[in-house]
Amino acid sequence: MPSLDLRAIPAVDKLLHTTEAAELIARFGRPLTLEAIRAAQEEVRARRDSEATMPAAEGLMERAEALLAGWTRPTLVPVVNATGVILHTNLGRAPLSSAAVQAIQGAAQGYSTLEYDLQKGERGSRHTHAEELLQRLTGAEAALVVNNNAAALLLALSGLARRGKVLIGRTQLIEIGGGFRIPDVLKQSGARLVEVGATNRVHLADYEEALAEGGIRLVLQAHRSNFQIVGFHSEPSRAELAGLAHHHGLPLVDDLGSGTLLDTAAYGLKHEPTVSEALADGADIVTFSGDKLLGGPQVGILVGRADLIARLRKHPVARAVRADKLTLAGLSATLLHYLKDEAEREIPIWQMLATDAKIIRGRAKGWASALGTGEVIAGESAVGGGSLPGETLPTWYLALDSPHPERLLAALRAQRPPIIARLQDGRVALDPRTVLPQEEGALLLGVQKALQSLR
Ligand SMILES: *Cc1c(COP(=O)(O)O)cnc(C)c1O
Repeated sequence: MPSLDLRAIPAVDKLLHTTEAAELIARFGRPLTLEAIRAAQEEVRARRDSEATMPAAEGLMERAEALLAGWTRPTLVPVVNATGVILHTNLGRAPLSSAAVQAIQGAAQGYSTLEYDLQKGERGSRHTHAEELLQRLTGAEAALVVNNNAAALLLALSGLARRGKVLIGRTQLIEIGGGFRIPDVLKQSGARLVEVGATNRVHLADYEEALAEGGIRLVLQAHRSNFQIVGFHSEPSRAELAGLAHHHGLPLVDDLGSGTLLDTAAYGLKHEPTVSEALADGADIVTFSGDKLLGGPQVGILVGRADLIARLRKHPVARAVRADKLTLAGLSATLLHYLKDEAEREIPIWQMLATDAKIIRGRAKGWASALGTGEVIAGESAVGGGSLPGETLPTWYLALDSPHPERLLAALRAQRPPIIARLQDGRVALDPRTVLPQEEGALLLGVQKALQSLR
């Protein structure tokens, strides 16, 4: 028989009166501490037929503390992004500008004019906050902000195509990350999908043929976002599609995905159609994300014809996917940067996109000398986040040699803040492009500690 005598487990009452317990109660509250002590006792009981010896009160309290630390450890914590992927979806896409952070804090701490008209002293609308800025910036008649771009598309389709058919070219039947598929969103909206053309080529005549059958409510165009078609490929231009849709009295809805207000070609990337260009081409509704190339908080933005936006604003789905006050505050502050022509200076992702490779090389060399190890190597940073598929920016990264690169990556992730790096040719690569200047100290300290931990 095992020597463990269950009656010897210190009683809860006794444990609760120890100084250790008092300290835990101060840190974690009484109910949770009590639960942890009981759980620690339970663990001892569960070990009854092992050769274990009875832990003293201190041992139990140590275990309770470990449990409490685990239960209360935050899961959403800041990390240093050294991957060189600027819009890293898993790492929260766009870091915000200081002004956006301040605006969010201001709206968070107290009450705000979220739905209050200061002039009239009566109820206002949450839709007023970003609309005027978006009108100015894109030239759109009207704008509407919702929770994210997937919601924007769901709203547009629910509001404008319900029980009707939606035309889309087979070249655009996309799935983006997180299981978001255009055909599924369409189904959810109650609309029916009518695919036209082939997977590589779609002609205007394919659309015309489908339109002749009738029952179509709108024509949809979707950005391919995360893949490219190469080779024998063609599809009608947005302007051609808009012309055709309008000829049949139908709207063209364009899911631009990332959506940009600046010309990406000025940053050595492929030219992405801007929101204004999509509208100028004749799109009646354009939808895009707030946290991709806009560089703001997570939102979905719809801009376009005033009559259509007014209809969508009244739709029940709009209420279900409305944006919250913190987001609206951060979005307005972000949009203001564009209006004041200071986006590249103030919005982190545009700073990152604009940083010259020579400057990045200097930073990587600085890291190498501060750490006394590593080699500075030419490589590529990615835009990511379903923007500009396949497009990269020249960069210089710090390559760290390790007999077990996977272990070094894990050790970097174990730092506070965690450092997320990537593997490149069997070495651990740290790309300065996506490391914010104020994070550099923490990064170097973390890398040092991670390297030491493996020695
Ligand atoms: C990213 C993307 C979406 C989804 O946007 P979220 O803001 O992540 O909801 C929808 N459509 C396209 C084409 C996209 O690139």
